[in-house]
Amino acid sequence: MAYDDSNIFAKILRGEIPCKRVYEDEFALAFHDIHPLAPVHVLVIPKGPWVSLDDMSAHAGPAFIGGFFRAVGETARAMGVDASGYRIVANNGSDAHQEVPHFHVHVFGGRPLGGMLRRQE
Ligand code: 5GP
Repeated sequence: MAYDDSNIFAKILRGEIPCKRVYEDEFALAFHDIHPLAPVHVLVIPKGPWVSLDDMSAHAGPAFIGGFFRAVGETARAMGVDASGYRIVANNGSDAHQEVPHFHVHVFGGRPLGGMLRRQE
């Protein structure tokens, strides 16, 4: 899937749409999710044209990928959930219900988060 820079997170990166910023560096921008599912629900997005983790891991260099994941840890520390614990989730593609086609990592925390996945009935 080719990157389409009309997606909502590309607009946030360009400053065309506001966000509640938590952390930013040369690799990433982190901001509160508009529909939080936990007391802490922050999205970390790379400053690059990557549709998904699959795209970024195939096409970005190791320095960028390392810088991006370092920013995820910085974001969790900025939110104060490093001691209590947190979960990162990255939905990749249709089976994972990825809604926005700009790679993003969800950081969830601030309450006990339960098991990893609901078992299939
Ligand atoms: P996905 O399902 O793609 O992993 O998650 C997309 C996330 O983006 C959802 O949790 C949704 O609430 C969030 N989101 C969608 N549009 C906006 C927006 O305009 N601003 C912010 N801050 N979050 C958004």
